Amino acid sequence: MLNIVLFGPPGAGKGTQSAKIIESHSLVHIATGDLFRKHMGESTELGQLAKSYMDAGNLVPDQVVIGMVEDKIQEHLDGNGFIFDGFPRTVNQADALDQMLEKHGLSISGMVALEVPEEELKVRIKERAKTSGRVDDQDDDKINNRIQVYNRETSPVADYYRNQGKFTAINGVGSIDNIYEEINSAITSLEV
Ligand code: AMP
Repeated sequence: MLNIVLFGPPGAGKGTQSAKIIESHSLVHIATGDLFRKHMGESTELGQLAKSYMDAGNLVPDQVVIGMVEDKIQEHLDGNGFIFDGFPRTVNQADALDQMLEKHGLSISGMVALEVPEEELKVRIKERAKTSGRVDDQDDDKINNRIQVYNRETSPVADYYRNQGKFTAINGVGSIDNIYEEINSAITSLEV
């Protein structure tokens, strides 16, 4: 199985690139933000719980996210592997993911990190706000908070994988296709 963590700050292009990767490598896409938005749309208990955190641009508590991901992994153990998008977002989540995978004799093959300067992230999120309908894309305070949360709580996750020798950084500025080519060659080298 090929199990990839696609990493990067909000607006780095994880969703766009994931869509291309899952198609070419037949991986199951586990995007925690998308899963929460689906729950919110269906007004499930989980969606209602996640909403106040998400709307403010804060992280949903680890235990809630970890439980949701564990359910998804269990549903797709017969596939080619997973691409984790927007997860893990804390070192605690990364630890839990390793443990979950280990239970099934699996592990993370590698992390691919998209690097994009902060000013560019803000421009992209504001552009996306015009069509995304996402409350957390809509104003500067929320966008700034998400970037701060990323810097404070999520960026240490890169070191977690770097310490395991599983980290590859990719320049996330450029054309979608060129960035995809870079990601694809990083992933292909993990397959052998
Ligand atoms: P995203 O679609 O990845 O930008 O996620 C949108 C929002 O969902 C985040 O700002 C968090 O509120 C929540 N969220 C998504 N993934 C996670 C996660 N792994 N841990 C905690 N909160 C998350």
